[in-house]
Amino acid sequence: MGTGHPHEKRAVRGGWARRLTGRLKNGVASFRMKRSGRRDLPNDAASVPETSPRRLERTIFGEPLRGLGNALLDLCLPRMCAGCGEKWLPHHEGFWCEDCRDALSWIRSPLCPQCGRPFLKSPSSPDHLCGECLLDAFSFDTARSAVQHAGVVRRRIHQLKFGAQLHWVPPLVVLLLQALEQECLSRIDLVLPVPLHVHRLRERGFNQAGLLAKALARRLELPVQYDLLLRKHRTQPQTRLHRTQRLQNVRGAFGVSRPHELEGRKILLVDDVFTTGTTLSECAKVLKESGAASVHALTVSRALPDVRQHDSGSGEQAWDTAAKRVLA
Ligand SMILES: [Zn+2]
Ligand SMILES: [Zn+2]
Repeated sequence: MGTGHPHEKRAVRGGWARRLTGRLKNGVASFRMKRSGRRDLPNDAASVPETSPRRLERTIFGEPLRGLGNALLDLCLPRMCAGCGEKWLPHHEGFWCEDCRDALSWIRSPLCPQCGRPFLKSPSSPDHLCGECLLDAFSFDTARSAVQHAGVVRRRIHQLKFGAQLHWVPPLVVLLLQALEQECLSRIDLVLPVPLHVHRLRERGFNQAGLLAKALARRLELPVQYDLLLRKHRTQPQTRLHRTQRLQNVRGAFGVSRPHELEGRKILLVDDVFTTGTTLSECAKVLKESGAASVHALTVSRALPDVRQHDSGSGEQAWDTAAKRVLA
């Protein structure tokens, strides 16, 4: 067995050896996340932008070893695509096969620079504020979502949330990373999940937003707190309520346990779905009232009321029923 050094190409023609050298050659590679345009970038754990000195240090000494580890993982434990569930993927290719990645309904420009709402009906227009943001409806500074709340991502979120299929967290975090803009990342110093009420947490056993926030923070090498922002009251699901009802539903629902820890902090607020924006906005309002300098919201998906869902099949129906029964 060769050492795997990039210069030792002579004995590497295929199979494990080619993958091994591929990993080592790519060991120091990073990629920039794009807000718009084709998402043809690797969707793997290695896709975190290199922003911290610690990460840069690791590229000097740690990456070759990590490359070796990943090559062995590719050999022993390839992953099944999180989308189609049919294609086996080497670890360095991530969680989504190329076809599934291309088929996702990515949210791209033109969009509202504040709340991230895409303007699907005017694809050639520039980014501009939406009606709600013109009316100053949201308290967060920005909100971004990776994809529309539809298709396979919607199913995976439902399976995570209502079926406790926690293995969908890493593929969903990959989507979160792709939605996170580089300039936004530089303005973040603390990750917080949208909290569940303690009763809901006991029922479900986990907070899906907490799991996503934890995995995301780990990849970004940022601190995460689960008990700073609290949900004081149980709320109804936002989807079926009118705007006024939505606001009333979440008003006063959140609180902060230790306000001094928020003083001047730049928060990345994480949730699974951007439904109406009122929950994220209420959280942002409370955080800012407690001293947070800024709040950027990030969700895996975004429900667009004017976009028809194309899901079908009894499985989807079952998850929808569960979703209605177990409120978000
Ligand atoms: Zn696939
Ligand atoms: Zn907007």
